[in-house]
Amino acid sequence: MKVRVNLNERSYDIEISPGLLEKCGQDLGILPSPKCLVVTDDNVKKLYYRKLADSLSLAGISCTAASFNPGEGSKNLDTMAFIYGEAVHAGLNRKSFIVALGGGVPGDMAGFAAATYMRGIDFIQVPTSLLAMVDSSVGGKTGIDLPEGKNLVGAFWQPKKVFIDPGVLKTLPEREIKCGLAEVVKYGVILDSAFFDLLAANITRLLSLDLDFYSSVIAKCCELKAHVVSNDEREGGLRAILNYGHTFGHAVEAVSGYQGIAHGEAVSIGMCMAADLAVSLKMMKKEYAFMQEELLKKLGLPVRVPKGLISAEILEAMGTDKKKTDAGLTLVLPLKIGAVELRRGVDPALVLEAIRGRCD
Ligand code: NAD
Repeated sequence: MKVRVNLNERSYDIEISPGLLEKCGQDLGILPSPKCLVVTDDNVKKLYYRKLADSLSLAGISCTAASFNPGEGSKNLDTMAFIYGEAVHAGLNRKSFIVALGGGVPGDMAGFAAATYMRGIDFIQVPTSLLAMVDSSVGGKTGIDLPEGKNLVGAFWQPKKVFIDPGVLKTLPEREIKCGLAEVVKYGVILDSAFFDLLAANITRLLSLDLDFYSSVIAKCCELKAHVVSNDEREGGLRAILNYGHTFGHAVEAVSGYQGIAHGEAVSIGMCMAADLAVSLKMMKKEYAFMQEELLKKLGLPVRVPKGLISAEILEAMGTDKKKTDAGLTLVLPLKIGAVELRRGVDPALVLEAIRGRCD
């Protein structure tokens, strides 16, 4: 399956097919340099680097790996300095390229390294987590975290190509699959009710990791994201709808101290809060909020905040400062399954009520 991201001279293809990891070298033979740096983490390196390196080597491309500890904790300036160093030691020049092999963490960092090394070189995305396949590898947002906050430094830098091999999901921990599924459901709610219905009708195939089904689901998500990104590459408007559930979700994660709750789980809870709020604002019928909640629950995702978190603190964490919260919040809220709207100046008292409804 192939999905095109239309961005004029920055357009590129996303290829999706089980077994692709072993074949992607063939397509990359067209790049101008026979040298690349593969940015990955230690888990993914152990599982998939050899396969990728062999495939690249068959196409006459030699590669070196820059690998680091898995997880968000590595998405920082120290790791970036390490990647730049590895790029220099490997002899990468302006015509060389970087390959991102892994989840969103290696993906965001590889992209940022490519955007900045020698003022910008090519890069290829080979996402291996479900979240990276359906979200972070497409659209060109790259970056790293600072101690002051997540994704505070970055660049828009589009990949030249995205290779997705859904077969690698077999080794992805179940919890990570579920986190990716929260983002998959998000696409249905914000943009495509037929896709939402397809997901709801195929819970067993989703839970049993039916790879053919996943290939078509991933392709659909990429198509939807490609449409959004093609119309708003730098988030001037439409792209903001991809944040559905995320403003609430990030706040839940922050208040939990990033312990015990994964990002996708927080997004699932956040989507429920956003839907409850839309119902209380009479923007959406209750039955749609119920449909979303049922699907998330059937996929094994949480729909309520873990015990012990305080609703007022979650509200506070949603505004970067108190004044902003008092003036009302800008939120992506659903109108029905398949359509959302950006609402400005939402009354914080109603937001708090929606949060409280999801707290024990
Ligand atoms: P991640 O890269 O840390 O991967 C999660 C875990 O899964 C890691 O332990 C990793 O080693 C492991 N893993 C990945 N693929 C595997 C496989 N096939 N088999 C076994 N283990 C595997 O995190 P993530 O959830 O993929 O991505 C989260 C990051 O993505 C965050 O930093 C977030 O900010 C970023 N993000 C970026 C965008 C964007 O548009 N650029 C969008 C959404 C999220």
